[in-house]
Amino acid sequence: MKNMKKLMALLLALVMIFAFAACGSDEAPADDNKGDENKAPVSDVADGDNNSAADKETADFTVKEGKLIMATNAYFQPYEYYEGDKIVGIDAEIAAAIAKKLGLELEIQDMAFDSIITAVNAGSADFGLAGMTVTEDRLKEIDFSISYANGVQVVIVKEGSAIKSVDDLSAGKQKIGVQLGTTGDIYATDDFGDDRVTSYTTGNEAINALLKGDIDCVIIDNEPAKAFVKNNKGLKILDTSYADEDYAACIKKGNKELLDAVNEAIDELVADGTIDAIVAKYIK
Ligand code: GLN
Repeated sequence: MKNMKKLMALLLALVMIFAFAACGSDEAPADDNKGDENKAPVSDVADGDNNSAADKETADFTVKEGKLIMATNAYFQPYEYYEGDKIVGIDAEIAAAIAKKLGLELEIQDMAFDSIITAVNAGSADFGLAGMTVTEDRLKEIDFSISYANGVQVVIVKEGSAIKSVDDLSAGKQKIGVQLGTTGDIYATDDFGDDRVTSYTTGNEAINALLKGDIDCVIIDNEPAKAFVKNNKGLKILDTSYADEDYAACIKKGNKELLDAVNEAIDELVADGTIDAIVAKYIK
């Protein structure tokens, strides 16, 4: 009787292990904490005949055969943001146009901005498209495509703030909010020191801190800044800007085939006016 119970317990355990393994095989990686909601609107390129097991094989220059996986941080309006559960915006549309040119199906993965380069280098995404600025330091870790847009770092303050221009920041002790790992974060920390700079995971959190009075200003990219000021009363952008930059797609170092393909696609999309049209749709 005792042995019978043991046998039953063993059998049950085996059944559970098999059941678990069967469910687990298709699941997203553990770090993809928002699961399927993050799957973006995909381009209209057909999946072809490569579904099922073929997914596991590595295509010539993308992580998953037939797919182009974009890593981004979807809290960066108008470049990438949620409309319902879809990620839309300039970068999302440019990525869809690139994917279409390459005959690949676009998938968008949303993550913290400072995880994008790691994800691309680790091979969990093919490229990052996130209003990402080309910098010398990042070029040591990752390759960049040709630039497809310009960015400007600006300063957001509360209306009536004593901070009237960027120069006022050098003289004072004001607390500065930034988005973690962005150029705003890197430059402000260099210029004003660690103690004066607080990094938030999203621009939104930095803006909330500014509204609450925890910090005196937020340094962030111009277009998201405009959206924040539009959506929150009592804020303004200083007339003087903090830094001018170029946005580009980041691609794993040495993946020359993908880099060349993306560069060629961007070139064509610039030449035929597609990128201008996408930008004009979001930036009036
Ligand atoms: N352009 C900035 C950077 O590259 C911020 C980009 C972002 O927050 N998505 O660091």
